[in-house]
Amino acid sequence: MQQAAGADSAELEVWIDQDLCTGDGICAQYAPEVFELDIDGLAYVKSADDELLQDKGATTPVPLPLLTDVIDSAKECPGECIHVRRVSDRAEVYGPDAE
Ligand code: SF4
Repeated sequence: MQQAAGADSAELEVWIDQDLCTGDGICAQYAPEVFELDIDGLAYVKSADDELLQDKGATTPVPLPLLTDVIDSAKECPGECIHVRRVSDRAEVYGPDAE
């Protein structure tokens, strides 16, 4: 899928499917500003003001400077449960369901 450069790439959000998370913490190592392990041992995304978002399927915007770290997290995630999608049409651009 073609990813437009510039402003469009800022319009991405990420969510984690905790049902598949193995709790290894790779994502939190790569992008601790976005991902964190909770005391249940599973990874969750964080809001822009550092709040852990624990609702099922909760998304958080991907800050452009962290895009590479977030994409690497999705690629390396052993549970294949990190989903990065466009905000505009919710199409997955990185992750197990990306075209
Ligand atoms: S990398 Fe994937 S499996 Fe590992 S803690 Fe993060 S979300 Fe869970």
